[in-house]
Formats: sequence, C-alpha cells, structure tokens
Amino acid sequence: MIKLVLATRNKNKIREFNVLFKELSSLDITVLSLDDIGFYGDIEENGSTFEENAISKASLPAKLGYIGIADDSGLCVNALDGAPGVYSARFSGGSDEDNNDLLLEKLKGESDRSAKYVCAMACVFPDHSNDFTVRGECYGKILTKRVGEGGFGYDPLFYFEPFGKTFAQIELSKKNKVSHRAMAMHSLIKKLSKVFENDK
Ligand code: IMP
Repeated sequence: MIKLVLATRNKNKIREFNVLFKELSSLDITVLSLDDIGFYGDIEENGSTFEENAISKASLPAKLGYIGIADDSGLCVNALDGAPGVYSARFSGGSDEDNNDLLLEKLKGESDRSAKYVCAMACVFPDHSNDFTVRGECYGKILTKRVGEGGFGYDPLFYFEPFGKTFAQIELSKKNKVSHRAMAMHSLIKKLSKVFENDK
C-alpha cells in the first residue's frame, strides 16, 4: 500500500482524493490528512504562483518522512492580468459573495470576459528524488451577473461554453469530469503511476 499525505485538514478533500484514486488508478493508494500524521502546525500559502503554494504545502509531510501531495487553485481573469489568481480566496478580504461582487465591479464595462480556473498539484518526496508538479486548467467566461445556486467560490459567474451553463448550474459529478482539479488529478495519477511502476 502506498501512503500519501494530502496537506489539508479538510476531511471532504481527503475523501474526494481517496475516491478519485480508487476510480482512476490501479495503484493501491491511501490518502491521509495532516491530522492523521499528527501535524498540527500552520499551512501557509505565501507563494506568488499556484505551483509554489502547492510545493510548500506538500513539503510539510515530506519533512516528516511522508510522501506529501497538495493542491492550490484559483481563478485567473485575462482582463485583470491574471487576478485574482493565488489571491482568489482572499480577493475581497470577505466571503465568496464579496469576492464575486468585487470581480463584477472590476470587470464593469470590460468586453474581454475570458478567464480560467487553474489547479496546481505538487508531490514532494522525503528525499526529493521524484518531486513534481502538474497543472490543470479549465476555460470559461465571467458573466455580468450570477446564474445558478450550486458550486462554490466564483462558480455562479463562471460560464462554461461546452455545457452552455455556469459551474453553479451543473451537477458536481459533471463538473468533476471537466474541472481544473479533475485535469490536474489525471496528470497527478499518471505521474505517480510512472514513479511507482519504476520502483517495482
Ligand atoms: P484553494 O485551492 O482551496 O486555495 O482555493 C482557492 C480559491 O479559488 C477558492 O476559495 C475559490 O475562491 C477559488 N476556486 C478554486 N477552485 C474553484 C472552483 O472549482 N469553483 C469556484 N471557485 C474556485
């Protein structure tokens, strides 16, 4: 069994990763949380790129001798030079609602509404022998008002052309097939398979 420690305390994220690994990988992988390994320190996100943040988080378990994995994600809007980017969660300093209001405010009168969700994932080994990062991206447009009740974060404003809907209007199972996180997860599993196949 391969033990990976996901640098999070979010139990839903741990469950989601475990399910995806079972579904998508033939490797016998179990994902543990920071609590499971007795790490109660801070999880900081001070980097200027998604990759930097993912690496710094995945390094926490690696320093304790575990294989660490971590993700970092956000929304990048072209007309705002890639903002809110790594500041997506803290864009307004308030709630998701406030973040969406600020985004609408900043894009007022802007004709280029193109944007992408980005997710970087990092895998860091205790001896750094096989460290890597992967990235998934998902392209859409920022609407001028919220549509839909589901999802989280910027989903009510993120219009995904292939579905003709916002991410707040589609079922989670559908979002999970096309999202930035799904794309990054596929690449992560491919890379991990290579690393562990070579170890046999
Ligand atoms: P983190 O990866 O948990 O740090 O997420 C950063 C922030 O990016 C979230 O708080 C959201 O504001 C935004 N974000 C990332 N992924 C999504 C998504 O799938 N839908 C909506 N917002 C997202």
